[in-house]
Amino acid sequence: MRIFQKGFNFSQDGPGNRLVYHLQGCDLRCPWCSNPEGLTVNGGTEYTVDQIEEEVLRSQMMFFDGGGVTLTGGEVTMQFAQVKELLTRLHSRKIHTCIETNGLCTRLPELFPVLDLLIMDIKHYDPEKHKAVTGASNEMTVRNIRHALDAGQELALRIPVIGGFNAEEEDARQFAALLSGFGGGFTLELLAYHEYGKDKYKSLGMAYTMGPEAKVSRQRLQAYSDILKASGLSLIKT
Ligand code: SF4
Repeated sequence: MRIFQKGFNFSQDGPGNRLVYHLQGCDLRCPWCSNPEGLTVNGGTEYTVDQIEEEVLRSQMMFFDGGGVTLTGGEVTMQFAQVKELLTRLHSRKIHTCIETNGLCTRLPELFPVLDLLIMDIKHYDPEKHKAVTGASNEMTVRNIRHALDAGQELALRIPVIGGFNAEEEDARQFAALLSGFGGGFTLELLAYHEYGKDKYKSLGMAYTMGPEAKVSRQRLQAYSDILKASGLSLIKT
């Protein structure tokens, strides 16, 4: 498995104290991505599934408050076979498993039986706008939300709220219409745009194309959140 970052994180990538692995490679190109070093499939450090499993088992004492292991990226499903094998082994050892994904992978439902929590981003409600900015339509992500709910998979959805892309009140109403149509069974979290990855772009010789209009004020985020809550969605903040 190619991994570009790993370490403990408390509560933001699943419950409790978690060992979080960032896997190399992504099939989208969101211009606000905070991990540009993880976009290509090459790079990072190569580990075997055995090595990661051993590291996790050695770390079990640290999984307090319901913690466990989270695989994120990049996009975890780019290394599908190894991810499935690792999750299967960890699940069989009763370690809490979580992945964070963009939801594009057609084989995603194969992971549900070995996954305690699925965190999925939905970046835009409109398939064309999603494609124009990230490089792919949201159709597969929407389909995978349905599959996850039908399978009884614990599901946490997240919307990155980005000025100039999806941050207007009308966008919140459109998201509310799409997501309330699923009939519940998931949590929803808003992630306001941030510039954490900006400096990495320079050092990688990549252009950072996001401007100041991408920032979202606290008031705007509150109004956005209120619209989603009013449609009955279960908003959380981690
Ligand atoms: S899906 Fe995530 S990792 Fe991939 S480009 Fe978008 S923000 Fe970055």
